[in-house]
Amino acid sequence: MKFWRISWFAFFSATIFLSACFESGKIESLDGEIQQANLQLANAQTSLATYVAKRPQRLSVLSDTVKAGEGLYQVLERLQVNFNDKRSIVLAIQDSVELSNLRVGQAFHVAQDSLGNVQVFRYAPNPATVHLLLKENDGFVYKLVAKPLVVKQSVFEGFIAKGGTLHETLLSVGIPARMSGIVAGVLQCKIPFSSVQPGDRFRIMLEESFYQDSIWIAGKVIYAEFDGRTVGHHEAFLYADPDPKSTYNAHYTESGEALIFDGLRYPLDRLHITSPFGVRIHPVTGQRKMHSGIDYGSPKGSPVYAVAKGKVIVSGYDEYSGNKIAIKHADNSVSYYMHLSSRGVGVGQQVTGGQVIGRVGSTGRSTGPHLHLGFKNAQGQWINPKSKTMIATPKLQGERLARLQSQVKRIREDVLKTEAETPREFEGSSVKVKQRKI
Ligand SMILES: [Zn+2]
Repeated sequence: MKFWRISWFAFFSATIFLSACFESGKIESLDGEIQQANLQLANAQTSLATYVAKRPQRLSVLSDTVKAGEGLYQVLERLQVNFNDKRSIVLAIQDSVELSNLRVGQAFHVAQDSLGNVQVFRYAPNPATVHLLLKENDGFVYKLVAKPLVVKQSVFEGFIAKGGTLHETLLSVGIPARMSGIVAGVLQCKIPFSSVQPGDRFRIMLEESFYQDSIWIAGKVIYAEFDGRTVGHHEAFLYADPDPKSTYNAHYTESGEALIFDGLRYPLDRLHITSPFGVRIHPVTGQRKMHSGIDYGSPKGSPVYAVAKGKVIVSGYDEYSGNKIAIKHADNSVSYYMHLSSRGVGVGQQVTGGQVIGRVGSTGRSTGPHLHLGFKNAQGQWINPKSKTMIATPKLQGERLARLQSQVKRIREDVLKTEAETPREFEGSSVKVKQRKI
């Protein structure tokens, strides 16, 4: 090229040409330089990106555990998470995690940058389930890490031994202690335990999930059968609703009758009846009058508990009842708590059995601190609270009943399959566990 430029220079002396030729050479070399520079810039950008990606993030990880009476918010407070992050974390996680089900000792982890902003939030309710919140553009993105579980179905069979209780027998056939209470609860709806006789037969199918084959994660009672000399033959099937959070997820008979043993809790720590349900002479008016509830004498300020799960439909005051609370339960019955010194729940709030809803007092027409407990049945009539022992879930109907019945068919097949998988192993009067991975 250089040679040609000199030759052109020798033969043509036109400056314009010369200049053009010279300029062209300059541009070409400039192009090269630009290309070079671009390449260098690209390399630099790549290595910068690599550097940024590889740079150790200066995140400090802190963790703390749930203490009695605490929720997520209190733990984040103790971890000194700033107000915005605290709010964002609770909002971002509440749809995926049942925050009211937290147990004492469960741990939360937060990873904060040097400015104290949370970049990562981690909550693992068990070794196989990790809930993560990752900071992206000032907001949190939720990620669930669910590790694979092994699901086992087990069938347990046994006979009540002479002098043995149902509970002892359940444990003796190998039903794990963590599940025996649930099994007893299912059977309890149909079988008065005092009527259980030696030789009565039962068959139970559990479905349990394990992480890494041995760490227990969760379990449910899929099937329970009891055949007793005096109590008769009963079966219970676990119904699985398409909505996993539906209250219909429970045990039913084949015809759809609910088998939920939700016994009522006591409304006070100590029960001392000062006036029973029924006709009485009113202590203030002196008139013969129907007393529509039970009065329990109790010091002012004692905690008052909801007798069962339900929704608060009244939280207010009137001159007769004083401070009063009413809770509507699953079977449409309503419990009433009157003369309270203070109320701790508001209308619309969901409460669980045993939750503190207020304090004993003497407000309204009352001669001294006491709790008046009233109960109305689904038809709206006052009933004796003592006659009310449990809250039943309504019978399954229509589409749900049809779904239950197809599930019943599958459960029966599963029981037989599991029984066939492992040979029967008799031990005394009991058949030991038969297991199948599904
Ligand atoms: Zn009363």
